[in-house]
Amino acid sequence: MPTTYTAPAAEKTTENQRILQEFYPPLTQETTRRSPMRELISTVLSHRTTHADEELAYDRMLEAFGDWEGVVNAPTQELAHAIRTTRWPDTQAPRIQEILRRIKAERGEYNLDFLEEWPTEKGMQWLNDMPGIGLKTASLVLLFNFRKPVLPVDTHVHRVAQRVGMIGPKASVEKAHQVLLDQLPKDSLLLLNFHKHNYWHGQKICFFTKPNCARCPLKGFCNYYLEHYGPATPEALAATPACWDTAWGALPH
Ligand code: SF4
Repeated sequence: MPTTYTAPAAEKTTENQRILQEFYPPLTQETTRRSPMRELISTVLSHRTTHADEELAYDRMLEAFGDWEGVVNAPTQELAHAIRTTRWPDTQAPRIQEILRRIKAERGEYNLDFLEEWPTEKGMQWLNDMPGIGLKTASLVLLFNFRKPVLPVDTHVHRVAQRVGMIGPKASVEKAHQVLLDQLPKDSLLLLNFHKHNYWHGQKICFFTKPNCARCPLKGFCNYYLEHYGPATPEALAATPACWDTAWGALPH
């Protein structure tokens, strides 16, 4: 039986995972990983910043100061200038230096590989205790780099989850991390795909304004669709594409 608009949230999450897994290209265990240090610092730089501007800031930072030791010892204003393509360089520069200082002080080197061996909860807590590192960044590092069974929720994943009804209408981004994780198998590859597919969906179809519902394979059980267009007709369902069409453009990073 197809999932309906009134289905429980957990059923909608399961169906979302199944459908988007077929709609978008799957990620594999071999999907390229950036180094953990790069993932951590890049995620700090990426806050409300495009991927291109984040990469530019990261490259300029290391070009200007050579390595992490150079970044820590750089005059903070000069570091802020190097990462000026990010949204808040004057806030991010001292934050990055403090994160690096703490990693060096606690671990003796700029290296996060020890997180591989640590239990997920302990690693999450350690990352979360860093200045400016929230649940999303900590989860991204643990899932992307160490394939720990956690689920990062950003603004795109949150928007799709809320519109479909996988989380409550008032559930915050922070709360959504645990609510969605509780509804999914603790399988890191599945969670990686779920995160990425919903991220792509929010970026390329379920836009903040004017979502492209005609293209969306979730319309048969999405609360937003029901509220705006009524129950999906057999014609609307039959006209929905089976998978992402590369003619619509490249999928984001
Ligand atoms: S049907 Fe529309 S609102 Fe619902 S998830 Fe799809 S694009 Fe978003």
